[in-house]
Amino acid sequence: MVTLGCSKNLVDSEVLMRQLDYRYEVINDSNETSDIMVINTCGFIADAKEESIDMILSAIEAKKAGQLQKVIVTGCLSQRYKTELAEEMDNVDAFFGVNDLPDILRSLEVDYKKELVGERHLTTPSHFAYMKISEGCDRSCAFCAIPLIRGKHVSKPFEEIIAEAEKLAAKGVKELLLIAQDLTYYGLDLYKKRRITELVHRISKVKGIEWIRLHYAYPAGFPEDLLDVMRENPKVCKYLDIPLQHISSRILQSMKRGLDGEKTRELALLWREKVQDMALRSTFIVGYPGETEEEFQQLMDFVAEMRFDRLGVFQYSPEENTTAFNLPDDVPAEIKQEREDRLMALQQQISLELNNEKVGKIFKVLIDKKEGDYYVGRTEFDSPEVDNEVLISDENSLLQTGQFYNVKIIRSDFYDLYGELVL
Ligand code: SF4
Repeated sequence: MVTLGCSKNLVDSEVLMRQLDYRYEVINDSNETSDIMVINTCGFIADAKEESIDMILSAIEAKKAGQLQKVIVTGCLSQRYKTELAEEMDNVDAFFGVNDLPDILRSLEVDYKKELVGERHLTTPSHFAYMKISEGCDRSCAFCAIPLIRGKHVSKPFEEIIAEAEKLAAKGVKELLLIAQDLTYYGLDLYKKRRITELVHRISKVKGIEWIRLHYAYPAGFPEDLLDVMRENPKVCKYLDIPLQHISSRILQSMKRGLDGEKTRELALLWREKVQDMALRSTFIVGYPGETEEEFQQLMDFVAEMRFDRLGVFQYSPEENTTAFNLPDDVPAEIKQEREDRLMALQQQISLELNNEKVGKIFKVLIDKKEGDYYVGRTEFDSPEVDNEVLISDENSLLQTGQFYNVKIIRSDFYDLYGELVL
């Protein structure tokens, strides 16, 4: 099983792998030789599409060389371009969309087992897991193809989510990362009201769950009571991942984000005010059609003012059938690159300064792995794979993966912290 793209894709792979466990030895993202390769693709933006196509082409080569018997392709790229891909790549045994689990199983001669609903073959370290609480998106952000690929927003029933959280906790999961295309929209379709705060509160009651982390929140209509549960409930990480995309009102309007620059700034200040020491992660797009140097400077000033703890930057990529696709992609590639570099250079400095402020402080750290001479962990302010890590020398300590320890920060770097165990 090869998974590309985001953590939502990873959850889909884990669900499929669990169903396949009965019939196959299922390996994940491995260089090991296998008989069958299933590629769960990403089709979000140009770079991601290219990576997926390269993976398919290398699987086809392996098949031609007799190293693989079967190549199956699924996921967002396949959902979006199934016909074109099938015409171009006749060495692939089958192309499936994002909602074709039973068909994929049938093509691999496996019966779909209803009793495995809510069960996954975890590919993350056993102490943390992603939990997808809904599928699809009802928004119409002008640059985004996800609603075209994943369809309308569909919340997973409340009780099903709780049952899944209980099953994961029973397997030893301590940290749950709640994910969706639009996390804060949870419940509006199914229950005609937002239920994200209630859901987070309820999950915190699940025995064994220590940390709940929130990813992919949306700014417009942001439920403020979520901040109260984050502030008051020790099991909810003081961490919010909320893509803001830009700060220029003209660009936010063109992006159809549903709020202007002023409102965006007000919200960001509110999050900071309501939850002291909250770690804010956000994502911005540079080089959106018509973005002037002044508008980009506005974004730089906003990032300098807000001092986000974690930040991701994407270069605008025109996507067919999105409303922005009709706009001229008039910011030259080298300017897009230059703006991405300038924004990340600013963020790197901010990240170092914020990390320096942590030296001397003690944090609860969850150990993820051992790497070389170091144990590698995270504080509640860091999400796996995308954020800072805490490195603890293995010299005088014998730590266990998946356990929490109190750690004093003794040194800091741009994106990492060094710590020592507090006994
Ligand atoms: S909220 Fe906007 S950017 Fe996010 S998945 Fe939905 S349409 Fe795309």
